[in-house]
Amino acid sequence: MTDKPRALVTGGAGFIGSHLCERLLADGVAVIAMDNLITGALANIEHLFGNPDFVFHQQDVTNFLHVPGRLDFILHFASPASPIDYLELPIQTLKVGALGTHKALGLAKAKNARLLLASTSEVYGDPLVHPQREDYWGNVNPVGPRGVYDEAKRFAEAITMAYQRTHGVQTRIVRIFNTYGPRMRLNDGRVLPAFMSQALRGEPMSVFGDGSQTRSFCYVDDLVEGILRLLRSDEKEPVNIGNPAEMTILQFGDAIKKATGANVPFVFHPLPVDDPKVRRPDIGKARRVLGGWEPKIPLEEGLRRTTEYFRRKIGKP
Ligand code: UDP
Repeated sequence: MTDKPRALVTGGAGFIGSHLCERLLADGVAVIAMDNLITGALANIEHLFGNPDFVFHQQDVTNFLHVPGRLDFILHFASPASPIDYLELPIQTLKVGALGTHKALGLAKAKNARLLLASTSEVYGDPLVHPQREDYWGNVNPVGPRGVYDEAKRFAEAITMAYQRTHGVQTRIVRIFNTYGPRMRLNDGRVLPAFMSQALRGEPMSVFGDGSQTRSFCYVDDLVEGILRLLRSDEKEPVNIGNPAEMTILQFGDAIKKATGANVPFVFHPLPVDDPKVRRPDIGKARRVLGGWEPKIPLEEGLRRTTEYFRRKIGKP
């Protein structure tokens, strides 16, 4: 067995999880990726299989977790994470946020490993404070369709803090804002895969509502850099990571038309229930505690790289 530090990445075959595995391996960390593949895909990690420091376990992390040997870090990223996924998988979403986080924390305690929890800007719900700072407690509808995700992640944060305070487990919590990049699932229903697939296929772009709602999009490499800095930092309370460059969904659609060269119209659909009207991270804390971290990849560059990936995926039969 290698004497390198070892990390477990739950959700390791997912969009963000697979980028984390790749980056950890590049940084000299041995990686165990775990995923039940209900929303993740082996295609995201198959290029890592030849690496002797990488192993994959197909497993549902809501069940008892057993990892033989040393474990230094647990990055708990397993969860459905798009509105379509958690509407289709409401109980799995609740279970992985609650039971899965409990199992991951139990493993961290047993192995004396440091655990980083992937939380979300959804803990702020449809926010009444803008931009969102970590000390804002949010405006969440617990019984609406998004409640299964929002409340699971709020519970996950609560149990993580409880393990830190009660058992002295070393924990970190990242609140991830809208992130994009290669390996997003084409049909996960999120705005980028939807707009990009539509643009590349020459179909109209499906705007929900009037498109005046705002989001702030972070390229995945910037997010991963922030997460790994947080993992190694001393910050025990939640930290927002995202890109504060806020835009309307119509502006985002225009940026995708430009990146893809597609000249497609917008078509308007009803706004989903509890769809947040605005979202933008306040990243003052991240800048302060993560050694001046901030996003570096401009939207045009991030969309260029993402377009390449989607072109390849859509080109395949
Ligand atoms: N959206 C849209 N068209 C789509 C998918 C999403 O207009 O085909 C909107 C959605 O209503 C939301 C925003 O784009 O206001 C971002 O949606 P996404 O699902 O990507 O993430 P969210 O921030 O809502 O979790």
